[in-house]
Formats: sequence, C-alpha cells, structure tokens
Amino acid sequence: MKDVITIDGPSGAGKSTVARLLAAKLGYNYLDTGALYRAVAWKVRDSNIDHDNEDALRDLLKTAEISLEGSTISVNGTDVTTAIRTKEIGELSSQVSAKPIVREFLFAMQREEGIKGKVVVEGRDTGTVIFPESENKFFLDASVDERWARRLKDLKDSDPTLTLDTTVEDLKKRDHRDSTRESAPLKKADDMFYIDSSRLSPEEVVDTIVRHLK
Ligand code: C5P
Repeated sequence: MKDVITIDGPSGAGKSTVARLLAAKLGYNYLDTGALYRAVAWKVRDSNIDHDNEDALRDLLKTAEISLEGSTISVNGTDVTTAIRTKEIGELSSQVSAKPIVREFLFAMQREEGIKGKVVVEGRDTGTVIFPESENKFFLDASVDERWARRLKDLKDSDPTLTLDTTVEDLKKRDHRDSTRESAPLKKADDMFYIDSSRLSPEEVVDTIVRHLK
C-alpha cells in the first residue's frame, strides 16, 4: 500500500501543515484524524457526560454521528470545525482518546476514508494501528520548546495582542499521556522514517518526505 501516506508525531510538530501541503502537492486527500478525536470530545462536553463513566460514554457513541466533508467536520449535523480548536477541547480529546471504546468507534471511519487511496493521514497511531500495512510512514518530531514557540507564533500572527494559555508543561503533559496510554500509544515504529523538523520549514519537510516516498 503506497498511496496511503501516514504521518504521526506529537502535538505541535507541524503534522497538519505538512500533511496539507503534501496532499496538495501530490493531488491527494488529507485526513486529520485528531479532528475526529476532537469531535468526540466536543460531543462529550456538549452532552455534559463524565467521560470516565464507560456506560455513559458507550451510550453517547451509539448516537454520535461524525461526518467529514472537505475540511468541514460535523457532529450530528452541527458544524464543529472551529469549535473543536480550543485548548479545552484539545485537552479533553487527549483524555477521551485514551479510551479503547473511542478508538474502536473511530477505527472503521478512518479505515474507510483511507482505503479509498491517494490520501495523507495524520495523527498519533495512523502508521501503527490504522494503516500498519502502509509502505510510506513518517514520524514528525520537533523539540518541545520549538513546538511551543510555533504555537505562540501562529497565535501572534493571527492577533498580536493574544498570549498563549498553553505552557511548555501543558505540552509535555499531553505528550506524556499520548505516548504512555495503553491503547494505541504514540510511538515511532521501526518502519517509519523519522524527521526532526525543529530546524526545517514546512516546505523542507514536505521535500524530505517526497524524496523518501516509495
Ligand atoms: O492532533 P490533535 O492535537 O488535533 O489531536 C488531538 C488529540 O487527539 C491528541 O492529543 C491525541 O490524544 C488524540 N489523537 C489520537 N490519535 C490520533 C490523533 C489524535 O489519540 N490518531
């Protein structure tokens, strides 16, 4: 399987930017799997349930309908594309994504989207669990300080008066949770090509990936 390109890595490593640019360059689709976990987190918060209550979570998933159309993501008909991008939903998504029933719920959806081919899939387990058979797997990393600095720059570019409410410690906490959970932890598999993007521009990362495509 060569036309499913997977990119995994910690938060803030630049996966989304790189995946989007790469997909545009190759004429592929782009699947942001983190958005699916964020959508589930949004639904959890909207329904006011305790996500540690497994029965409540199971019931919620039975009625949850997540749909992706281009870059628009909806939950039971409500467009949540912007609402899922808050710090709170980022935190909550990291917590709900550690639940095996949530991962099972989203597994089929990710496979269906990807199996059509010609797609760049980006997340934490896309090369280990979702598409282990892909021959084009990448692990995108950057130092924690660099990842935090990029977040700050993105924010300042959008509004110079804003300050970042996520600290380096918050980022480290999320990395730790995502990499140590039992269910599909973030990890670099032996067959992934590792890229440290700390000193590379998104375009340079894309070029590196293209050069290493099978
Ligand atoms: O990439 P993004 O920050 O949008 O992802 C939100 C959260 O979703 C991550 O912190 C991670 O816990 C979870 N996630 C995951 N597996 C994926 C993609 C995201 O567990 N494939």
